[in-house]
Amino acid sequence: MNIIQGKHYAIVPQARWRRRYVLTVIKDGTVEIRIPASWKEQKISEVMFRHRRWLAKRAEELEARREKEANKISIDWCELPDTWWRKAARVDLWNRLDIWADEMSLTIRKRRLTGARTRWGSCNSMGDISLSWRLMLTAPELRDYVVIHELAHRRHMNHSPRFWAEVARWCPDYKERRTRLRTSGGEIG
Ligand SMILES: [Zn+2]
Repeated sequence: MNIIQGKHYAIVPQARWRRRYVLTVIKDGTVEIRIPASWKEQKISEVMFRHRRWLAKRAEELEARREKEANKISIDWCELPDTWWRKAARVDLWNRLDIWADEMSLTIRKRRLTGARTRWGSCNSMGDISLSWRLMLTAPELRDYVVIHELAHRRHMNHSPRFWAEVARWCPDYKERRTRLRTSGGEIG
């Protein structure tokens, strides 16, 4: 079965005849989203976006329980094929991008998924944002930091103190996250 496993949630396709989706919290705290197999990624993102506060609350509960594991991902995960990670990234990263763009009252023109090893993300003056699917190999809060960083470039196309003030507004502990991301390898544009 094709299962897209996020750090906090699992997307489980169901039989095509099923029309409704079901959100549940399973035993280990993972949010399980059962969706009709015919659904496109866009629709999954829409459902997650609609229930984002609920999902965030559940994710927090899970995070509290698994605090010690937050920064590591098991070997099994890393051995999954690139295509799997791309698919998971299109749901997870684009969903984060939608949520943060909404929170920060910003718009995005195009979004692009890269496989870059040395650059986590970038944003150009047109409002096109690129993110590397390899971010999926980092902790969820580090993905949020990269998303916030790139979105903040929609207001300041530089790394000026005003830019960092914008990042800090949405991510007060950005310095710590930035350091953790550096130790994971890669840079951020
Ligand atoms: Zn930057």
